[in-house]
Parts: sequence; C-alpha cells; structure tokens
Amino acid sequence: MRCPSCGHPESKVVDSRPSDEFNSIRRRRECLKCGNRFTTYERLGDNPIIVIKSDGTSQVFDREKLYRGISIACAKRPNIPNDKKSEIIDQIEAELRNSGRNEIKSKDLGDIVLNHLKGLDDVAYIRFASVYKDFQTIEEFQEALRGLEH
Ligand SMILES: [Zn+2]
Repeated sequence: MRCPSCGHPESKVVDSRPSDEFNSIRRRRECLKCGNRFTTYERLGDNPIIVIKSDGTSQVFDREKLYRGISIACAKRPNIPNDKKSEIIDQIEAELRNSGRNEIKSKDLGDIVLNHLKGLDDVAYIRFASVYKDFQTIEEFQEALRGLEH
C-alpha cells in the first residue's frame, strides 16, 4: 500500500471501518514519511465479524487482541493455561459465526467472554469484567461479585 503522494511503502492505519461494499474494510492511512492521508478499501477473508465499541467506532474481531485481553486478566492465575485461552477464543468465535451475525457490540462480546471465564477462575473473571465493562465505581465491582455468587 504505497503512499499515492510520495510512494513510500509504509503507512499506519488511523481509522478502520466496514465498508458498504460487501466484505471489505475502509481504512484511513497516514504515510510514515510525508504524513499524507489516504483511503484504501481492503478485501477480507471469509466474513469478518465486526465489533462495535461503545463510542460507536468499529473494528474487525481480532483473535490476537482478545487473547491479549484474556491473558492480562489471567496473569498469574494457573487455572487457565495458554491452550485453554485459545480454546475459549475458538469457542467464542464459533459461537459468533454460528449465530449468523456479522457484528457484535463490544459489551456483548465482553459478556460472552465473561460467561466462559465464569466458573474457571473468579479472579480472572473480575479482572476481565473491570476492564471490559469499564468499572468506574466500587458498586460496579460489588455487583459483578454478586453475579459470581449465583
Ligand atoms: Zn508519503
């Protein structure tokens, strides 16, 4: 993806969103050399799942990113080894694809992850919930803890 202005081969993505055109994504890129901004339309592999964040922006479901999120929540928790994390993500991805939907709110995705962590490791559950649900108050923590008791 060369810069149309100076021909430099490297650029960074400043914004990504699904395009109206089937199976493609529109990216705003910024040339790392001259700073020129340009738009590309990139075809994706099989149907991407789009995650819509609470601020309305969206991005393609990213296994690596979810893996990192779960890994942070599971830090120093031996109950959830790495292959278990991959297994959880496989299950979640399969659930999303089987549901036939191609987009999901990040909050709903967070809830699905939490359902998988529930019963595996309570500390990882609370850590993940605090990040994904963006807890601002102690009451929100307490509510999540109550949810674990049932
Ligand atoms: Zn350039």
